[in-house]
Order: sequence, then C-alpha cells, then structure tokens
Amino acid sequence: MQHPESPYTPVDIAIVGGGASGVLLAAQLVRKTRLRVALIERDAQPGLGVAYSTRSLGHLLNVRASDMTALADEPDHFVQWLARDRRGYGRTDFVPRAIYGRYLQDLLADAVQRSDGRLQVIRGDVVAVRHEDDGVELDIDGCASLRARKAVLATGHRPPSKDSGAYFGNPWRDDAVSGLAPDASILLIGTSLTMIDVLISLLEHGHKGPIVALSRRGLVPHRHPPAPIPTPEADTSDLFTGSLSRRTARFRARLRAGLGWPGLMQLLRPHNNELWHGLDLDQRKRFLRHLRPWWDIHRHRVAPQIGAQIDAARARGQLSIASGRIEIGPKMDDKVEVTIIRRGSDVRESRSFDRVIDCRGPRNEVDVHVPLHAQLVEDGLLRPDPLNQGFDVAVDEVLIGRDGRPSDRLFVLGPPTRGRYTEIVAIPDIRLQAADIANRLVAALQEPSGLAGSPAA
Ligand SMILES: Cc1cc2nc3c(=O)[nH]c(=O)nc-3n(C[C@H](O)[C@H](O)[C@H](O)COP(=O)(O)OP(=O)(O)OC[C@H]3O[C@@H](n4cnc5c(N)ncnc54)[C@H](O)[C@@H]3O)c2cc1C
Repeated sequence: MQHPESPYTPVDIAIVGGGASGVLLAAQLVRKTRLRVALIERDAQPGLGVAYSTRSLGHLLNVRASDMTALADEPDHFVQWLARDRRGYGRTDFVPRAIYGRYLQDLLADAVQRSDGRLQVIRGDVVAVRHEDDGVELDIDGCASLRARKAVLATGHRPPSKDSGAYFGNPWRDDAVSGLAPDASILLIGTSLTMIDVLISLLEHGHKGPIVALSRRGLVPHRHPPAPIPTPEADTSDLFTGSLSRRTARFRARLRAGLGWPGLMQLLRPHNNELWHGLDLDQRKRFLRHLRPWWDIHRHRVAPQIGAQIDAARARGQLSIASGRIEIGPKMDDKVEVTIIRRGSDVRESRSFDRVIDCRGPRNEVDVHVPLHAQLVEDGLLRPDPLNQGFDVAVDEVLIGRDGRPSDRLFVLGPPTRGRYTEIVAIPDIRLQAADIANRLVAALQEPSGLAGSPAA
C-alpha cells in the first residue's frame, strides 16, 4: 500500500527516467489514452538526458532533421517544429543536439498541457520499484512512494567509468574539458562518437595542445554524404540466412559490386533487428567482437561538418588516432601515467597525459552498484541479457526476472533493451519502441482504475 502521507497521487503508469525515451513514451500515452501517468526524472531538466543536455551548438545530431520526429505517426513533427522555431534549419540539416533538446522539452510541456492533470512530472531518484498487490510501488529518493499499476524503466545510459583525479570516467561532465591549460596533453580513450563529441568541445574551448585518441582498432566514424542519397534497389535476402561468415562474405561481395556502405546501410536500416534476431547467441557474440566496430563506423555516421573538423585537427597534427590498448597507471592526481601497447606490437610505451577522458561510450548493462538495479536484482525482477549488454527483456519489452519468467507489470524502453534489439540507441528506433509500449499499456490497462485522488476518478 502507498504510504498515506505520500505526496504523490497514484497513477496507472510510472515512467522511470525522463530522458528522450521517457518523454517520447509520455507524449504517446497522453495522445493515446486517458490513463494517468507519472514521469520521474532525477535531473532538474526533464527531457534532455545524456544526449540532449549538451549546451554546445557544435554537437550536431548524426541523423538529418527529416528522420528525427519524436512521434512515429507524425513523420514531419520535428521539421514543422523547426519551421516554427525560425532558426533557419530545414529537413536535410544536421541540427545541434541542444536544439533537439528544446524540441523534446516542448514536446513534454505540450504533453503536460494536453493531459489536463493526468501527466505528473516528478523530480526524484527512483531507488526501488517493488511488486505490491497487482501493481508496483516506487521508492523515490528513499523518502516518498508512488503507487502505479505498471512501470516502465527508461533509465538510459551511464558513464563509461568512474572519475579519479585527472582521469575523467564521465565524458559528459560539465567540466570534462574545462580547467585545462591551452597546451595540455589529452588522451581520449575510444575513437567513436563520444570521442568526437569531446574533441569538438575541446576545440570549442580553444584547446591547442596535443590530443591522442586511442581504441582497439583506431576506427573513426565515417561521415554522411553532403546530400541525402536515394536508397538503392538490391536484393539483400541472402544476408538474412546462413552462418555469420557466409553472410559477411555476401556483404563484402555487395560492397565489391559497387553497392557501397552508405547505400547498403540505408537498405538494411529498417531490417537491422531482423538481421540481429537471425543470429544465434554465438554468432551475436562474434558479431559484437569482430564486426561491430566496422558496422558502427558506417552505420552511425557524423554530419559532414563534423567530419571536416576531425580532418582539419588531424591535418594540423593536433589530433592523432592510434590503435592498440592502454594500461592506466596508479598515479592520477594531476597527471595520468599510461602505458600504450600499439596494435601489432609488444612494445610498451610509457606516456603521461594532463587529462585522460574515457570516451568508450554509454553503458547500459545491469550494475548492482546502481541502487535501483541492486534492489530489482535482489527481488529477482531483473537479470542481465545473455550478452550482458543491458536488461533481459521478452519480445514485448517486459522485464524477464531471475526465474526466467516475463513480468506482468515492468516494461523497459530504450538503450537498456539493446541485448534484444541491438540497434536501439537512436531516436528513429526508440520512437517506434515507445509507440509499441504505449499500445501494449493501453491494451493492458484499457481504462484508468478508480485509484483515489485521480482526476479521472
Ligand atoms: C552523446 C549522444 C549523442 C547522440 N546523438 C544522437 C543523434 O544525433 N541522433 C539520434 O537519433 N540519437 C542520438 N543518440 C542516441 C539517443 O538519442 C539516446 O540513446 C537517447 O536519447 C536515449 O535516451 P534515454 O532517455 O533512454 O537515456 P538517457 O539520455 O540516459 O536518459 C535517461 C534519463 O533517466 C534518468 N534516470 C536514470 N535512472 C533514474 C532513476 N533511477 N530515477 C530517476 N531518473 C533516472 C537520467 O537522469 C536520465 O535523464 C545519442 C546518444 C548519445 C549518448
């Protein structure tokens, strides 16, 4: 039972996490139903999350505006918002992520207004979600509870590692690139999209010192062509069957035949999850280990302007991209001692950097150091997916518990479902998932219950 002094009105659906995923779902629910919804976000500014809280106008979306609608059934929703916003961005532009954040905040404000009191936005940290009678009870900040019939975990991303002195495990910290001498030496661990974000921030701060970016293979994301390309016509059905090596060989043959990575990626884009589901566990493991880095640099490409900045930084000798591995030394106070072992070599190179920033990208797996995860694991409600990429979920996005049984009240939305849907990081995928979950919730709950104190009651 909800504590009688709880400040919160019981709801039908509680969404834990008010980043892009939570907001997309809240907007869908308000549009589709009269159910009562609470969106609980620990940060002061709901709607932004990790990706859209940047203030830098140099951090651009890596998808053109035309494909960034938040609402699956309104393809031009973002483009129309841009037209009303009058900043001059159009459908083929790569818009700053900070502006997309404003779009998401407007979407949330609109949902609150439309909901006529049915959508509450609560600031707080959900530290537990417990089964209670036929619903759930959420513990917010350890001091208040909220009762709901169903809950959706939209808890998103966590930083790659822990901070320590001059070692920044969280590349999204406000001060990740400040407090540095202009000629300070920087090591960025990772050469993918997070590295590029940090690089752009360093350059915006006028950094002039050397920057080394290192990853196992030293692969850097490609860039989008200056204008959208038409989707090529080709039969790709044989990429969906057979062993991983056969599929890879056929894929390469397509490339050799002139189809090209951008065209092939565009062609496969709507079928990526089907491709993934066609692989068994062992094939998925091998894909993640050996092929994923190549897939990612072609699949998640950067805006042409960003590609030009990377080229310029490399050309003037400020940015060097290396492949290999590193060992971080024990000393991290004002400098970080690092041993670099370059790919294909046994030579151990000792280096010292003024700052090391972990840019290996967001983490989504189960982590018992996160209070909510610890409680859910302890209560047998949460377990890692078989590849430890995120939470184990069933086909209808419900959480699978320790006993292997799908939950009847806990759903998961967004990146923590990446074990099941490997391509679930970008808005075009999340908005479809949000719409699906909203439909399932509406079907499951049909009508608001008569919970006391609700506007519907
Ligand atoms: C740097 C970056 C750039 C990206 N660029 C693009 C792009 O250009 N185009 C594109 O389509 N996609 C892009 N993506 C991918 C995509 O948009 C994100 O994956 C998406 O925003 C995920 O949002 P989310 O809400 O699931 O996660 P998050 O952004 O991590 O938000 C989760 C929210 O939940 C809150 N939260 C977590 N736990 C709790 C709790 N226990 N209690 C209360 N609140 C909690 C957090 O505070 C956070 O605000 C990018 C992603 C990143 C990281």
